[in-house]
Amino acid sequence: MNIKILSRNSGLYSTARLVEAAKKRKHNVEVIDPLKCDLIIEKKKPSVYYKGRYLSETDAIVPRIGASITYYGTAVVRQFEMMGCFTTTESQALVRSRDKLRSLQILSRARLGLPKTVFTNYSRDVAEIIDHVGGAPLIIKLLEGTQGLGVVLAETKNAAESVIEAFNGLQARVIVQEFIKEAGGADIRAFIIDGQVVGAMKRQGKEGEFRSNLHRGGTAEVIQLTDDEENAAIKAAKAMGLGVAGVDMLQSARGPLILEVNSSPGLEGIEKATGKDIAKSVIRYIERGV
Ligand code: ADP
Repeated sequence: MNIKILSRNSGLYSTARLVEAAKKRKHNVEVIDPLKCDLIIEKKKPSVYYKGRYLSETDAIVPRIGASITYYGTAVVRQFEMMGCFTTTESQALVRSRDKLRSLQILSRARLGLPKTVFTNYSRDVAEIIDHVGGAPLIIKLLEGTQGLGVVLAETKNAAESVIEAFNGLQARVIVQEFIKEAGGADIRAFIIDGQVVGAMKRQGKEGEFRSNLHRGGTAEVIQLTDDEENAAIKAAKAMGLGVAGVDMLQSARGPLILEVNSSPGLEGIEKATGKDIAKSVIRYIERGV
């Protein structure tokens, strides 16, 4: 099969592992930089032009589209879809997952557990917003943040008010969220492929840190999910329409709460924590899909 990995950098762990796994299973595989693709749109025969040639023989793509190139990256994925290629991440689902607010609405409609969350349009009613999530301590998140940057824990009502007002003043959109204290600075990442959990890990923030992001110095270990956690993760990926997803959850007194569903989940953390060949599972998903 001809498989294209859409990635800006073939040196990244996830990209390199996907290439390796595809080769091992005897596929033709190539890394394509989505930003260097020209999309040719006409009545019949849509095509992608890349470095002097048409990518017409492609059977499947694996989109690894970073948040900063969502717009063009999604257009490239859509073009391959129009050409009849199988994709491990559909363009629609990719767009959906990049909108944090819309994602939370979709997850809520699917009746999944979520930390109580308020989104406002630079509201002046800061005190009411704080009351909606049950008062301080609470979490304030910049809508466009990633890797834990822009996630703030406000311990008191006063702190919460000043931080929300400061963000509002900067015209930065935030969501205000109930703080799940009993999560203890840890979260769970479940890696879903084709409706099944293929690996799960628990990430623990470093001492005194409520954020468990590995980029913030957190550590990861393999974990056996409870039935509730497994069901929630599978349901969340399905609600988002994602064939490959990294579902982040908090363990709370009222069961698993979904934080986020990632549409380009990294392979490094999960493969190292679980010792599993997740890249191979992605390639096998393609083999079934095509
Ligand atoms: P990002 O997408 O930037 O990683 P997250 O929403 O995943 O932001 O938050 C980063 C980390 O902060 C999470 O992995 C989790 O450990 C912690 N965290 C986020 N929201 C909450 C919350 N409502 N209650 C407790 N901890 C939280």
